[in-house]
Formats: sequence, C-alpha cells, structure tokens
Amino acid sequence: MPEKQYLFTPGPTPVPPQVLAAMAEPIVHHRSPDFVPVYERVLARLREVCRTETDVLLFTASGTGAFESAVANLVTPGEPHLVVAAGNFGERWISMTRAYGAEVDELRYAWGETPDPDDLRARLREREAKAVWLVQSETSTGVVADVKALAAAAKEAGTIVVVDAVSSLGAVPCETDAWGLDVVVSGSQKALMTPPGLGLAAVSEAAFEARGDAPRFYFDWERTRKAQRKLDAPFTPPVSLVAGLDVALGLLLEEGLENAFERHVRLGRATRAGAKALGLELFSPDEDRSAVVTAIRAPEGVESDAIVKGLRDRFGITIANGQGDLKGKVFRIGHIGWFDVFDITTALSALELVLVDLGADVERGAATTAALEAFESTTAAA
Ligand SMILES: *Cc1c(COP(=O)(O)O)cnc(C)c1O
Repeated sequence: MPEKQYLFTPGPTPVPPQVLAAMAEPIVHHRSPDFVPVYERVLARLREVCRTETDVLLFTASGTGAFESAVANLVTPGEPHLVVAAGNFGERWISMTRAYGAEVDELRYAWGETPDPDDLRARLREREAKAVWLVQSETSTGVVADVKALAAAAKEAGTIVVVDAVSSLGAVPCETDAWGLDVVVSGSQKALMTPPGLGLAAVSEAAFEARGDAPRFYFDWERTRKAQRKLDAPFTPPVSLVAGLDVALGLLLEEGLENAFERHVRLGRATRAGAKALGLELFSPDEDRSAVVTAIRAPEGVESDAIVKGLRDRFGITIANGQGDLKGKVFRIGHIGWFDVFDITTALSALELVLVDLGADVERGAATTAALEAFESTTAAA
C-alpha cells in the first residue's frame, strides 16, 4: 500500500478535496465567461476575508512576490522606512526594502520575542518613516504580534502600515479596514487552503496615493488595479489556482471567519498542551494568540533534524525544522487551514514514538489526552 503522507507544516498546508477537484477541471480562457464570474467572486471573497472594502490585488506569485509588490510600489530610493523584525520574515523584509534603495531603520528583536507597540511609538518619535513594515505571524518563531496595537502606534506618527499576513490571514483576526492597515499581504498556500502560487495584497487608497518611483512593471499596482476593476486580469492568471481558491474561500466563509479563528485558537491550545504533556519545552509563547504554528524545543541531547527526519521516514509526516539559528534546536508544527484536532493528535502520537526512538525521556501516552482536553476547553489556556 502506498505510504500515506501528512503535511503538518506552516505552508504549504493540506488542501481539501473539493479544492483539488475544482483545480482538476478543464482549463478555461481567462477572458471568457467561463472564468470572469469565478474571478469576480474570488476578488469579492478576498475582500471579505481581508475585511476590507478596498481592492485586493491578485498576483501569480508566492507570498514574497506579493510583498515585493508593496516594496516596489511604496519605496522611493533614499526614503526612510522602518521594518519591525523578530524573526526570519522580518529579516527578509529588511533585506528587500534595502534592495530597493530604502533608508531602512530596523526595530529588531531577538527571535521569539513579541514586538512592543511602545517601542515602535518611541522609535517613530526619534526617526520618521514613510512606512512601517510589520509581520503579523512570524512563522519562524510562532509569535503572533498585536498588529492592531502596532498599527495604532504607527498611525499616530502618520505612516503607511504594511502587514505581512502570509501565514495568518484566515487563521487569526486581521481587520484591514478597522485597524487602519494600508497594505495586507498574503499567499494562497497557508490558511487559505490552496496550493502555492497566488499572492495577494489589499491596498488602501492612502497606500495607492503614496506610491513611489522605484522601477516596476509586473508588480505595478496601478496596472493590476485598473485591469482588475474591469475584471480583466493584466496578465494570464493561473486559472486553475483561482478556481481552487474560489472553492477554498467559499469553505472558509461558510465556516465563518470567527468560527475559523476560534478553531485555530483551540488547535494551538491542543498542540501546546500535547507538547507539554510529553515533557517538552515550548519555544513559541504559551498564549491563545499563538494559533498559527507551534515551535517546540528539541529535548536535551536531540537535534530537531533527527525528529523531522524520523517523522518523515517512519510515518510520512512532514513538519518544519527551525529556521536560521534555531535550525536543529526547535521544530515547528503548523496548524493553519484545513486542520482538525485529529491532525494534532496524529502529529503528537508520531512525535512521541520518534522521540522514544531517539532515546528522549518522554512521558508516554499523555500527549493525545492532553491535546483532546485542551481542544475541548473553552476557557483561556493556562
Ligand atoms: C510563508 C511566509 C512568507 C513567504 O511566503 P512565500 O509564499 O514562501 O513567498 C512570508 N511571510 C510569512 C510570515 C510566511 O509565513
């Protein structure tokens, strides 16, 4: 029998069968009536998921590509920008804004720390910035930042606010309009339950008006916005991915965003409770907001590489190693998108067996019970 594969990473994530089926339909022409209504519905559903009235621009690109659209459209070489970084993705945005010639100021935290709005407020009093670049869910550490409070601090200084919501959109609340987020960037392959390949950017009128003059063409917001408003994509869209995203967003909205957020909180609780019951130490914060990915320290004397490899080789389970300096030290279990509590108990039971193989001293048989109980609990996690 072919080995069953399990994908428990924070992107790509498992894709529901209805989405896969939609993607297997014959190819249609992107300017024909076979596609235009799908395109229109996807754009409307994206606005609903982003909680915005503004245009959500869709690009054939990964999340990083959609983010680059923000950099290419907002940066004018020599201008001051402030990037808040507390992990791998914050570091990426420092490199990218700098590559476009911005004068980049960094509000940098140790990996695993949570950015503080008061630090941001203080920094913006010292040094002006045209835009503040934030990461909502720092997937490398499991920290979910308080974007609402950070954006409010940035707004006091009158800056544009750009948010990397690649791993968080659809999993935790991201109120584009209500929180005054000028640009929200995401990708198809995380909580949006679709294969990799589509990037999106919700762009406010203020961000659009603040465009700079770095060179750009494919990622030019004006070109895409103008075409999308006529439901005529500027370049050939990946029609099958768009059809898949339409179904996936339909599933998410049918569940209801609030219900999906609640489910993710409980999935995070279950994962943390299970890891602790095994006797492991959490790297990501033990708090409800940490609902995207759980980073766990490898036990004394065990490299996380061996855990990742053991899960793959023995059980066909893919999880993620640590990134950067955390490689070998932590491992990460993603729980965004098409996940239920049995995905968590599967991951935890396999983890228990692999840790025993590796000679770690773990508490046997306690993880799944703790996970199931935590998933059912309706009070805030301890
Ligand atoms: C996955 C991820 C990205 C990068 O997305 P790609 O689709 O791989 O380009 C950016 N930011 C965060 C927080 C992510 O989790």
